[in-house]
Amino acid sequence: MTPGFCITLSKADKPKGRTCVVLLTDSYGRPMRDLRISITDRCNFRCFYCKSAVFSNAKERAEILTFEEILRLARLFVGLGITKIRVTGGEPMVRRDVDRLIAELSRLPGLEDLALTTNGFNLAEKAVLLRANGLNRVTVSLDSLDGARFAAITKSNDFEKVLAGIHEAKRIGLEPVKVNCVLVRGFNEDEVVPFAEFSRQHDIAVRFIEFMPLDEQGQWNREKVVTGAEVLARLRERYEMVPVGKVNDHATSADYAFADAPGRIGLIMPVSVPFCGQCSRVRLTADGKIRTCLFSVIEHDVRTVLRSGADDSAVIEFITETVQKKERGHRINEPDFEPPPRSMSFIGG
Ligand code: SAM
Repeated sequence: MTPGFCITLSKADKPKGRTCVVLLTDSYGRPMRDLRISITDRCNFRCFYCKSAVFSNAKERAEILTFEEILRLARLFVGLGITKIRVTGGEPMVRRDVDRLIAELSRLPGLEDLALTTNGFNLAEKAVLLRANGLNRVTVSLDSLDGARFAAITKSNDFEKVLAGIHEAKRIGLEPVKVNCVLVRGFNEDEVVPFAEFSRQHDIAVRFIEFMPLDEQGQWNREKVVTGAEVLARLRERYEMVPVGKVNDHATSADYAFADAPGRIGLIMPVSVPFCGQCSRVRLTADGKIRTCLFSVIEHDVRTVLRSGADDSAVIEFITETVQKKERGHRINEPDFEPPPRSMSFIGG
């Protein structure tokens, strides 16, 4: 094992029932707790701010990690102190047998939290099976509560199915069910209050995410970003919003409750209030690249290491050395910011 990666954790960081040593820390002393695994670069939606309407740049199947490769890496990461895994994509639910992968991941000793991010198109049908297979919770992306606008944003007619999926996830206890809404000025910034009403009525957490420069077609610009501060001001015109303490030091959202109703609002503000200082995340792309930051311009090819026949200790060494290269923070607000070459759909949101 590469020396120098052991640190003592604060009480809040200490994983339940495990030793207080994390083996995976970056060069700034940040412990890595959270692994996001993209299991496919394909998506059945074409959200205008994320993915172009062409399939051509999806990878060949042979380039995509097999379930066995994903599980091996997940096991090694968990052995290094990762306690939370989020399965994402592309659209993870378009990959065949995703429920089998969830079942295998949920059995990893030491994993405390297994979550899924999905556009929700088939969640109503699959939620019970996913939960039975060990999924703890789900986040559903939904950018409009208006069916026609939803179709315009996603190029999909699955609006009702997505809503049904959210309600089914809530009904069967895939909690907390979170709804992620990316606000883009000129498209859906008028939906802050309708989403707040949705949250209050159904006791579901809605998180507003600032539009990030990660779109395939380069449409991002600062004017299109609806900041968290703007959202909060709009909410406060109508509701008494009560700040809620962070779940843990690494939480990415500023959370608010309504003084007079159930529901939660989260503000995720990577552009206006970067939260890199406490970042505990590592990403694995569907084609087997480790990304140490959502905005990394460099990827680390662990697939080649796996397929070269490396034993576990060699793979662990590759992972720990890669994490040492983790960026101090993203550079969205720097004049020389260079967006990553792949969109969110290919990186894994
Ligand atoms: N297909 C799944 C879904 O829709 O949730 C998982 C992948 S998707 C890329 C993950 C999240 O990234 C979605 O909530 C999506 O809205 C968000 N996203 C994609 N591009 C984004 C961008 N440029 N800025 C902010 N969020 C973005």
